[in-house]
Amino acid sequence: MLLGAHEAAAKPAVLDIRVGQHPDKTRLVLELSEAPNYRVFLLPNPFRVVIDLPELDWSVPESKIPEGAGAINALRFGLFAPGTSRVVLDLKQPVLVKSAFVLPPKDGRPHRFVVDIEPVTLAAFNAAPAERLGASSEKPLRTTQTAAAATVQPKPAGDRRPTIVIDAGHGGVDPGATGVSGLLEKDLALEYAKELKSQLEATGRFRVVLTRDRDVFLALRDRIKIAHQANGDLFVSLHANNHKSRKIKGFSVYTLSEKSSDAEARSLAAKENKADIIAGFDLSEQTEVVRDILIDLAQRESKNQGNQFAADVVDEVGQVANLLGNPHRYAGFAVLKSPTIPSVLIEIGYLSNRAEEKRLRDKGYRKKLMSALSRSIGNYFQQNQTFNRY
Ligand SMILES: [Zn+2]
Repeated sequence: MLLGAHEAAAKPAVLDIRVGQHPDKTRLVLELSEAPNYRVFLLPNPFRVVIDLPELDWSVPESKIPEGAGAINALRFGLFAPGTSRVVLDLKQPVLVKSAFVLPPKDGRPHRFVVDIEPVTLAAFNAAPAERLGASSEKPLRTTQTAAAATVQPKPAGDRRPTIVIDAGHGGVDPGATGVSGLLEKDLALEYAKELKSQLEATGRFRVVLTRDRDVFLALRDRIKIAHQANGDLFVSLHANNHKSRKIKGFSVYTLSEKSSDAEARSLAAKENKADIIAGFDLSEQTEVVRDILIDLAQRESKNQGNQFAADVVDEVGQVANLLGNPHRYAGFAVLKSPTIPSVLIEIGYLSNRAEEKRLRDKGYRKKLMSALSRSIGNYFQQNQTFNRY
C-alpha cells in the first residue's frame, strides 16, 4: 500500500467553524476547501448530533473553535476511523434535524456545510419520523470501518515471546481529560504508549502490539478485540486523570472489580467508560457482550494475574514517581473486561495538577516512568510460571 502517498494527498481542510442561535433553530456551519459528502444522525441518552464527513484536515486554531450555543452544549471533532472524520455535538435537550446542505463558494467565501437543528420536546423526538432523525448528502459518504478491524497481526508461528498489548486511552473525537495548560490525555497516552513499546522491544523479550498508533477513535470493545486478535498475554491501558481538586497528584493502577475500592475509583471508571458515548458511538449492542464476559468464570484466573501484575507495577514505579494514596485500586472499567487476558488500567498522573502536568510532558520523565513499567512487566513474566505455556 502506498500509504504515505495516500496520506500526502491533500485532505479537504476545515477553514472555519461557527455555531449560531436563531429564533427557530441552532445552526452549525463548517467552511471547507471542498464540498463534502456527509451523514448526520441523532443519538439519545444523552442527546447528541453526530456528523460524519470524509477525513478532514482540521487547520482551525484552538482559539477559533466555538463554544456551544442554542441547543448545543459543546462541540468535539476528530478522526473517527481511517477515512472518516466526525463532529459530535452534545445537546442540552432533544432536537430534530431541520436540514443539512452544502452551499457553493460565493462572494469570496469557500464551500459551506450547514446543519440546522431544531429544539423539540421529548414527546416530539420520540414520535419523529426517521427522516427528521438524520440527513445525508446525495452521494453517500464512503463508509469506513473503525480503526480496529484494520491492523491487527496474529502472532507469527514460532514466536514464543509473550505479547504485550499497549492501549493508549481515548483518541480522535474522544480527547479524554484536558490538562491545566491544555494538554490532551489522548495525545499524552499515545506518547507514553509508544515509549513503552520501544522500551519493551529493546529488551528483545516481548512482542508488542499497540491498539492505536495515531490520533484515531477506538471503541472500548474494539480495544479488547484487538488484544484477543493479537493473542495478548498482558493488556496495559494508559491514561491520565483529572480531579476537581488541583492539589491531587500521583500515579495509580487499576484492576477490574465489580465492586469499586472507593468512590473515587467508581467515578473514574464511570468517566472512562463514557469514551464511546463521547465519540458518538452506538452502544446498543455492547452492553450485552460486556455482561456476558463479566460472569465468565475464566475471568477469575486472569483477574488474579492482573492483580499480581498491578502489585509489581506499584513496586517498580514507586521508586521513580509519586504514587497516589492506595495506588492499586479496583473498579469496573470496560476495557479491563477481557475474560482471559490479565489487564490493568494505569493513570500515569493528574493533568489537573500544574506541576504534574508539566512533569508528564517531560521526555526524561516519560522515559523513566516507562522504563519502570517495562521492568515490572519483565518481573511479572519472570515470576509467573503459569505463563510458561509455550
Ligand atoms: Zn482516560
